[in-house]
Amino acid sequence: MKGSFPIEKFNTVRTPFYYYDTELLRKTLDTIKAETGKNDNYHVHYAVKANANRKLLRIISAAGFGADCVSGGEIKACLDAGFPAEKIVFAGVGKSDWEINVGLDAGIAYFNVESIPELEVINQLAGEKDKIARVSFRINPDVGAHTHANITTGLAENKFGIAMADMEKVIEIAASLKHVEFVGLHFHIGSQIRQMEVFENFCLKVNTIKQWFADQGIEIQYLNLGGGLGVDYDHPDAEPIPDFASYFDTIHRTLRPDPHQQILFELGRSLVAQCGELITRVLYTKKNALGRDVALVDAGMTDLIRPALYQAHHTIECLTSQGTECSYMIGGPVCESSDIFDQAAMLPQLKRGDLLTIRTAGAYGSAMASRYNLRDLPRSIYSDEL
Ligand code: PLP
Repeated sequence: MKGSFPIEKFNTVRTPFYYYDTELLRKTLDTIKAETGKNDNYHVHYAVKANANRKLLRIISAAGFGADCVSGGEIKACLDAGFPAEKIVFAGVGKSDWEINVGLDAGIAYFNVESIPELEVINQLAGEKDKIARVSFRINPDVGAHTHANITTGLAENKFGIAMADMEKVIEIAASLKHVEFVGLHFHIGSQIRQMEVFENFCLKVNTIKQWFADQGIEIQYLNLGGGLGVDYDHPDAEPIPDFASYFDTIHRTLRPDPHQQILFELGRSLVAQCGELITRVLYTKKNALGRDVALVDAGMTDLIRPALYQAHHTIECLTSQGTECSYMIGGPVCESSDIFDQAAMLPQLKRGDLLTIRTAGAYGSAMASRYNLRDLPRSIYSDEL
């Protein structure tokens, strides 16, 4: 049984809900600021896709971070949460015209462009407004991320980015367009990366690519390295704040930017994963046909889809019972066999009404929630409002 949760307060809120420890989020942001503060050229743009919760966005913008958006909706949410337009970057492999117009109208920092047709559309839409859009090219560096296949994005086979082989043509076309200005390079190799060698290899590749542009006499103001730093899903209490020191140190040791170049990071998961938990209640316990203990809870894959989508593991703990542990299959109420949070969670003897916490759920949790089965979207509660 965990002691650090306001269980009495939890009993007054209908489950399931997300619980956010805003103090941990603030400490995480302070840690990042302390690390990036060692280098004036480092800037972190929070990857909003990880969690677009309004209160979290407000805390992150108030701490001075920029935002990495992948939709018109995210840009609007960030403006509303207080991010200055000049600290917003718009990425995404398939931007619709209206979304590009939202970015142009707001005057965001720049667009990360992923193809020649997209570049031409941005040029046309900027021209209609008599504006010049600043653009970065997302390059597919063909670097493996040693993570789950569904969250690898920087391999040649992925749909993302522009191949280096096409770069000469892209530069030539960009130079001929009147309403775009090329300002930098953008990369993102994948998510939940815990091995620093992966970032090391990636930076070496970026150095080579950067040199290619220098050899062509092309000026690069921004090197955007994307996100990807992973978190410890198995031991959330051992590492509540990810190892930002090792991450930024690896970049600092390996990347060779020119003195004037600004280095951007689009970290999502590492900012918000550990401060969020999904709180759920045991509805029923039973044995399945094989005699396995099953606990059915009131949260489902509609609230947290990561286990079903990525076979992701989240540590599950019981907040209301203790004692000898045994293995439980933890399943949700959704009519899908994949609506399982854990095949074998070690938990004390569970009973109807027990509260469970599904840890490390702050990133790609509520952001991916759906209303499948016409279930309600999960509510959110915050440690500083209880
Ligand atoms: N940048 C881009 C382009 C992404 O696609 C993603 C995640 O998919 C991120 C940043 C954030 O990654 P993470 O949450 O792993 O830091």
